[in-house]
Amino acid sequence: MPCTNENHSHAWVTEGSLTIERCEKICGFCKAPFKHAWFLRRHVNNVHVKQYPNLKVDEGW
Ligand SMILES: [Zn+2]
Ligand SMILES: [Zn+2]
Repeated sequence: MPCTNENHSHAWVTEGSLTIERCEKICGFCKAPFKHAWFLRRHVNNVHVKQYPNLKVDEGW
């Protein structure tokens, strides 16, 4: 969902580990757009991890 490729579907979980792929540039929680996936990852780490205590951003790729 939160990327521009309509063939992709990305699960935005609120607990467990969330994987943000390189193609994802829109926050799945607040819909804020970002220039790069790593900005989005940083945003989720800074903002949404506090709202969802059981959520962890997967540091893959
Ligand atoms: Zn995608
Ligand atoms: Zn957000």
